[in-house]
Amino acid sequence: MKIALIAHDKKKNEIIELAKKYKDVLTNHDLCATGTTGTLIMGETGLKIQRMKSGPLGGDQQIGAMLANGELDLIIFLRDPLTAQPHEPDVSALLRLCDVQAIPLATNKTSAVIMLEALKNKAI
Ligand code: PGA
Repeated sequence: MKIALIAHDKKKNEIIELAKKYKDVLTNHDLCATGTTGTLIMGETGLKIQRMKSGPLGGDQQIGAMLANGELDLIIFLRDPLTAQPHEPDVSALLRLCDVQAIPLATNKTSAVIMLEALKNKAI
């Protein structure tokens, strides 16, 4: 599967912890991420990740383009609902495209764990 990983700044620690916990699962898949998220996860886990631009600089839109082209199978996007994001329109567009394409999307840690457990058990 091709999986995209994105986390807003206050959620970066959560996505790093998830990536560490599920490294054995993630390593069997093609990974991409927005710039800073990807750099941090690679540094902490050694996972190979295709990095896009940073989210506020167009990374979310790059991942959206991949979605529109049918190139992604699952997205983990840990959003910070309590902080205004300068690129909120890009975030909304990405979430919308997930629904257009019916691509599974986890926007918080708990739903991400459910998806990663499903991947681990080869249920999806
Ligand atoms: P970042 O982008 O991984 O480059 O921080 C994430 C985002 O804010 O969309």
